[in-house]
Amino acid sequence: MKIVKVEPIWLRVKPFNEPCEWGEDAFILKIHTDNNLYGIGESDSAAAVLKMMFEQPSTHGSCRNLSEILLGQDPRNIKKIMDDLLEGSAYYGYSGALICALSAINIALYDLLGKIYGVSVAVLLGGKRKDYLNAYATFIPSQDLKANAVKAKHLKSEGFKLLKFGGAGFGSNALSDKEIIQGIRETVGDEVKLSIDLVGLWKNFSYARERFLDIKEYNLEWIEEPVGMNNVCDYARLSEHLPCKITGGEGFYTQNEFENFIKKSKVSIVQPDITRCGGFDTMVEVEKLSLKYGCDLVPHGFSTGILLAATVQFLASSKHCDLIEYSQSTSALYTHLVKNLIPCKDGIIAIEDVVGIGVELNEELIKQYRIDIKI
Ligand code: MG
Repeated sequence: MKIVKVEPIWLRVKPFNEPCEWGEDAFILKIHTDNNLYGIGESDSAAAVLKMMFEQPSTHGSCRNLSEILLGQDPRNIKKIMDDLLEGSAYYGYSGALICALSAINIALYDLLGKIYGVSVAVLLGGKRKDYLNAYATFIPSQDLKANAVKAKHLKSEGFKLLKFGGAGFGSNALSDKEIIQGIRETVGDEVKLSIDLVGLWKNFSYARERFLDIKEYNLEWIEEPVGMNNVCDYARLSEHLPCKITGGEGFYTQNEFENFIKKSKVSIVQPDITRCGGFDTMVEVEKLSLKYGCDLVPHGFSTGILLAATVQFLASSKHCDLIEYSQSTSALYTHLVKNLIPCKDGIIAIEDVVGIGVELNEELIKQYRIDIKI
């Protein structure tokens, strides 16, 4: 069995001259075999940059085109292929965009392996351990407090027990941030837990502590990425001094980066993104690290139904993790790229017995939003 075709696909909902919000562009990958199967992967990263890694002409043995490394390989040899990819792409830098591209490949190869053997990826990872996951809802808050109230009320009525909001500048204005949190807390009452995501906008420890004291009364479940991801000393001080869980990690790549972050930051929850950290293999390693250093693992996930399905398969096989992020994005790439988007009911996701990661792509939508620029 051989890989005969690699399709890196850049999708973008908005025209180039209009800004994209989270979830409005995507990088997806198909890896085809000579027996007419294909695996599907994704990376939530800079889509055009990732596509180029699969299309640029190879220069030397450490700066190769990723498709070239994949073509002709037996897709069942996942660890060998991942080693070959790392060796052949050292000049891209062993972090960041390269690991994002390798995450999409890793997910596609596991999806393909599941299809070859007729089993789910959870089975390939050691077995399905659970039938349900608890889900929390994530949305991007508006400056319009009424719109936030409508959204929060709807999510509560849908059965979510935990809501998280952040993005679109939330975190950069202490006064309006407080009004947003207050408005949502008053809407949902005390029976729904709330978390906020600062996307690193709280500058440093002292500033973050002041902001926390401003909003302490709203009883937050966790504070996500309060400061920049590399400010690990600030993370550690916040984790030690604030009476609230501090979380982060969605922007890290590879097992080594996660070990450094978890050990030094002392976060309560580490949040790797399967489409960025290195795929299934790295998620498994980060779970081991979370146990070693005593934090919880709750995966990050705010992109397409491919990411959602891959994350569900990882969590299905995990012994210790059972909370999943459930995006409330209204982007067509979230709502319609995957025909069988995994549903959430009463804040619970049922884990179906699927083959691979179990997604069926909407080829019409791919045609509509696909961007093909050749070098
Ligand atoms: Mg986040």
